[in-house]
Amino acid sequence: MFRGILITKDDAGYKAELQTIDEAVLPAGDVTVQVEWSTLNYKDALAITGKSPVVRRFPMVPGIDFAGTVLESTNAAWQAGDKVILNGWGVGETHCGGLAEIARVKGEWLLALPNSFTTRQAMAIGTAGYTAMLCVLALEKHGIEPPDGEILVTGANGGVGSVAVALLAKLGYTVVASTGRSAEADYLKALGASQVIDRSELSAPGKPIGKERWAGVIDTVGSHTLANACATTQYRGAVAACGLAGGMDFPATVAPFILRGVTLYGIDSVMAPLKVRQEAWQRLSRDLDITRLEAITREIGLSQAIAVATELLDGKVRGRVVVDVK
Ligand code: NDP
Repeated sequence: MFRGILITKDDAGYKAELQTIDEAVLPAGDVTVQVEWSTLNYKDALAITGKSPVVRRFPMVPGIDFAGTVLESTNAAWQAGDKVILNGWGVGETHCGGLAEIARVKGEWLLALPNSFTTRQAMAIGTAGYTAMLCVLALEKHGIEPPDGEILVTGANGGVGSVAVALLAKLGYTVVASTGRSAEADYLKALGASQVIDRSELSAPGKPIGKERWAGVIDTVGSHTLANACATTQYRGAVAACGLAGGMDFPATVAPFILRGVTLYGIDSVMAPLKVRQEAWQRLSRDLDITRLEAITREIGLSQAIAVATELLDGKVRGRVVVDVK
């Protein structure tokens, strides 16, 4: 038996509760992990509140990521005592996840904890931070360099957005942060944003094509924001789209793509191949300023995770939330 959050759905409805869970609930897997830290990502908040059909099997332990120590393994790659991290692979959606003391998963889903991070720091980064790095890598591989111009980050106060601002600033880019919380402008500037704009500048229906501004964009919002970002991206610039915090729709035209050669990169962290994950975590070790990471991280216990999930969906959470599962 172990402590964790369990989501159930039956005649009584959809419910997430902190409880004592029987190990028999855990699905098959060749590695059992003592979870030390997990996090609250946007998707976890959707799963816990039931606001979107993220959870596909019941009962389910939510938590799309975790860091901890291997307890038992029949997978040759892992031994008891190894420090590991996991992001995605349907964990917390179709396979019990990280918001519990014990997780049982497939060994091929695990990565060794990078030497430069503690398990807490790895989860302060979490899936949000690793996704921010995937977006940065997409812009870099496109060939965008700091002198090319401004990089727009939307949803900048969120988990992905905050880490993206910090990473881009450390790499020397000029970052424009778009947010609905202008009261947090100082926080964003401390992270490295050169300018903070109100998200209303991007969220209303706009023209198919507008004045060229951004050398690159990291978008966590979707909908009109993404369409307007594409419409105002410079000739041969690139947009990395990873989120839908403002909506799943994409009310755009092809104009930016066929008239300006803009490239739209889709970013998925869940099923990304091992090599891509390794590169992202290696670059996080090199390029993320740990002091800045600490400044954007709030620590909570398992008993607070359900309440904080609602706050997160209400847009009241700034930066990253790390969950102490120990
Ligand atoms: P957070 O909730 O931490 O951040 C989302 C931010 O989006 C908010 O802080 C807010 O920023 C902004 N926002 C919220 N609602 C709206 C709205 N209605 N219109 C415009 N902006 C809004 O979430 P995460 O950072 O964890 O995730 C961000 C997005 O990225 C989510 O959609 C998530 O599902 C997605 N994601 C995708 C991944 C992938 O693999 N593709 C992996 C991880 C996340 P502000 O207050 O600054 O305006």
